[in-house]
Amino acid sequence: MAHPSDDARFDTLAVHGGERRPGPEGSLVFPIYQGTVYTVEPGTHYHDIKYIRLNSTPSQVYLQDKLAALEGAEAALATASGMAALTTVLHTMLRSGDHVLASECLYGGSFDFLTQNAEALGWSYTFVDPQRPDTWAAARRPNTRMFLVETLTNPMIRVARLHDVVAFARQEGLTSVIDNTFASPVNFRPLSIGFDLVFHSATKYLNGHSDLVAGAVAGSAELVDRVRHTLNLYGGSLDPHAAFLLARGLKTLGLRVRAQNHNAMTLARFLAEHPKVAEVHYPGLTTHPDHEHAARLLSGFGGMLSMRLAGGVDAAQALTEALRIPYSAPSLGGVESLITRPALTSHAGMRAEDRERIGITDDLLRVSVGIEDAADLTEDFEAALRKL
Ligand code: PLP
Repeated sequence: MAHPSDDARFDTLAVHGGERRPGPEGSLVFPIYQGTVYTVEPGTHYHDIKYIRLNSTPSQVYLQDKLAALEGAEAALATASGMAALTTVLHTMLRSGDHVLASECLYGGSFDFLTQNAEALGWSYTFVDPQRPDTWAAARRPNTRMFLVETLTNPMIRVARLHDVVAFARQEGLTSVIDNTFASPVNFRPLSIGFDLVFHSATKYLNGHSDLVAGAVAGSAELVDRVRHTLNLYGGSLDPHAAFLLARGLKTLGLRVRAQNHNAMTLARFLAEHPKVAEVHYPGLTTHPDHEHAARLLSGFGGMLSMRLAGGVDAAQALTEALRIPYSAPSLGGVESLITRPALTSHAGMRAEDRERIGITDDLLRVSVGIEDAADLTEDFEAALRKL
């Protein structure tokens, strides 16, 4: 009989993708197989042995099938964190002597990994502006092997020229790799426009409940198999209990992200009109430099926005303290709204001049909009701004 996820739309895939029917013992909910090791049939290849680090135990395989369904991928892999997803992809695709073209607006941890670790691994990199395809050819070297970008940049929420990235990578024979954490597959599915590999910090929207750390990689069966091979040896595999929680979170991904899209749009419009707000960065606003491009590329503008107040750093700090609903915390993508100053948190590892060059001033605030009622959120910001 056909599986209910065959040819299904996103929300049906989120609930039914990867599910076994019937489930073990008839269970609707795929259980947590916490066992480390399983009996081995004669002739089993080492990488096919069922062992947690080898990513082959039932709870891990179940989660991976669900992740693949949601990204529209042949295969997917869960990792112990978003950074494990990134570093395992890099270690799989690059050899000593290789060069990477990377977006100059990468997540702080990805930026730090390249700037602090690449040289010792024999890799070199050039940061490029993901909005300026005309500058990429000059940065390409004979040994360039990869183009690494993010769907929505953090924290300026720019939307990279992703069709151009794919076209350039294909023309130049590079592997195109994208961090889709901020968009989630609800708003964008990079493999559908030709990216080779997509990865996530599943800690964020994919799980959505701020209660686990995980990563995901998806792509062709051939590439994901190579990444799995590396992961099995480096050891950054996801524990079955976290796999269970992540699969549970994934079932409501569409509902959550659409609520976050709506709330962020409502809040961004409110803030953009407020006299004490100097700038709002949200691609759903018609004033955003990438608005038209984002409207064509994405199914939703996402739950992340950033802003600057007229009153600078002191006002930014005062607003953070006056808000009742958003927690003052880094990270993102959970059901609860969060507010943070990237210069002090996600981008604290960058040199001040590198931060300023891409717009991350000390007073910039970033909001991860949750699934609370949009009216409560705007009223909370209105009341907090009144106190400044
Ligand atoms: N990519 C992006 C865009 C992120 O925001 C983060 C974490 O904040 C990561 C990757 C790293 O993910 P993790 O913290 O799960 O290792």
